[in-house]
Amino acid sequence: MEYEAVIGMEVHVQLNCKSKVFCGCSTNFDAPANTNVCPVCLGMPGAMPVLNR
Ligand SMILES: [Zn+2]
Repeated sequence: MEYEAVIGMEVHVQLNCKSKVFCGCSTNFDAPANTNVCPVCLGMPGAMPVLNR
């Protein structure tokens, strides 16, 4: 029996920008917990991400 190695990567980075990549939510790290979120960044069903400029 032969095996094929498949390796995935998940990368988390902190970008120096004012909003997130796929929605308009702020990236202010001083904000209270769960305030800089919307259905898109929560991954709610039907929410369609749109790439920011
Ligand atoms: Zn969002």
